[in-house]
Amino acid sequence: MSGATRTPGRSRGSAAVTPSERKNSATPGKAKQPTLLRDHAGEIVDPVAVAAELEAMDAAGAIAWALRTFQPRLYFATSFQKTSSVIIDLAWRASPQARFFYLDTDLLFEETYTTRDALAARYGVTFDRYSGISLDQQTALYGDRLWDRQPDACCGIRKVEPMRQALSGSDCWVSGIRRVDSQTRAGAAKFGWDRRFGLWKLNPLADWTDQDVWKYINDNQLPYNPLHDAGYPSIGCTHCTRPPGNGLAARAGRWADAHKTECGLHG
Ligand code: SF4
Repeated sequence: MSGATRTPGRSRGSAAVTPSERKNSATPGKAKQPTLLRDHAGEIVDPVAVAAELEAMDAAGAIAWALRTFQPRLYFATSFQKTSSVIIDLAWRASPQARFFYLDTDLLFEETYTTRDALAARYGVTFDRYSGISLDQQTALYGDRLWDRQPDACCGIRKVEPMRQALSGSDCWVSGIRRVDSQTRAGAAKFGWDRRFGLWKLNPLADWTDQDVWKYINDNQLPYNPLHDAGYPSIGCTHCTRPPGNGLAARAGRWADAHKTECGLHG
């Protein structure tokens, strides 16, 4: 089954939105208030108590809980980095009906697409594809190499807006971020309200180390992105990712020439 399957309909090509407006659309502050959290039986539950329970739960247990609670309005984000391999495996084991999506910036590495296809073939799942305007349209509207001049605006167009579309029909999404990824993620809870996108968010691998991730991949012989073996601990777009070099933090190779550490998906 093909990995890339769906690009939701959208209006394109309007010059009415500037890069700075796109950037602002990623800014927290206009967020919706948390919705009532209900358990699988429909009973209203205390999200603080639930979050505390999930903190003590392992990744498989947390994902099983999320599937019981939110399916089919639960959406697993995938980037086809090493943590995606783990999350896809855990989710599929819990429910072959689990729903997955990815953001295609049209600037992903070839290895990322081949990893997508390998995972799609192994599990027989579909990875719904969300994307922004074409690169040609972006150049026509905002000039060449926006990623060099205004990377926040470029991420707003190519990641944040597609993400809003992806999440618009869900009540909870699942991310592969971990506390060891970076200082900005060090305080990530396993479960909570995502103010940026206005739905619940589960980070089932929040407390996993690199060793935990690789042990799971190796023990289960999972397909994984071969760029990890080529010195890329963190993988994004081709123009904004390079190996960080020895001794540097895993995400130091992302936007290495800019004062930027996140793409705007994780508040
Ligand atoms: S990571 Fe770079 S190329 Fe990709 S969307 Fe962000 S700024 Fe643009």
